[in-house]
Amino acid sequence: MSISENIKDIEEKIERAAIKSGRQRKDILLLAVSKTVECDRIKQAMECGLTSLGENKPQEIVRKYDELPGAKWHQIGHLQTNKVKYIIDKVELIHSVDSLKLGEEIEKRAAKLGLRADVLVEVNIAGEESKHGVKPEETRALIEEISKFDHVRVRGLMTVAPFVPDPEENRKYFGQMYKMFKDIGQCGYDNVSMDFLSMGMTNDYEVAIEEGANIVRIGTGIFGARNYDIK
Ligand SMILES: *Cc1c(COP(=O)(O)O)cnc(C)c1O
Repeated sequence: MSISENIKDIEEKIERAAIKSGRQRKDILLLAVSKTVECDRIKQAMECGLTSLGENKPQEIVRKYDELPGAKWHQIGHLQTNKVKYIIDKVELIHSVDSLKLGEEIEKRAAKLGLRADVLVEVNIAGEESKHGVKPEETRALIEEISKFDHVRVRGLMTVAPFVPDPEENRKYFGQMYKMFKDIGQCGYDNVSMDFLSMGMTNDYEVAIEEGANIVRIGTGIFGARNYDIK
């Protein structure tokens, strides 16, 4: 299937899952994960209306930035503190804050440029060793620390759920994320508003939306299997 056909199919599924959870299509952001995808193919997705793009590596955002005017970039992969400076003024949202050290670096760089950086805190909801993210029980404490910074706004939570053959297996994790999202939202911390819950990928986005996600990050479903060799 072509990129536009893929998107049409995903759009329908997002709408169905949104309605199932008492929401509408417009309440969900479909983030096109464009890592390893070349700009000519990304442009096809942008022409279908997908202008929010997710990348894992800061250097890939930097490389594609000038070639894709109008794109809204999201840093979704693990971010090393020494890379913050390359993207701080280029991204709309950083999904992957998982330490105070990274929060401090974002604060420092944003302050220097006079901006406010919007971030999500990444939670390792299933406690997988291979995954980044803060432990669920440490999430609130990290957010409390970051809330003291003047140039960082915590806008929500993100998780990468386990890769499982049956997406239903992740429903419990998505439900746990939604509960934390709601609970923290009621704490009234400064500089914290729980607006975005980023969870769900090609394999499990419908279940994620049913459980309350309002950003889904989809790569393979839009662009097909990734070819890491060309990078
Ligand atoms: C690659 C990636 C995705 C997209 O994964 P697909 O299964 O291709 O949809 C989403 N989120 C993160 C953090 C990723 O690294």
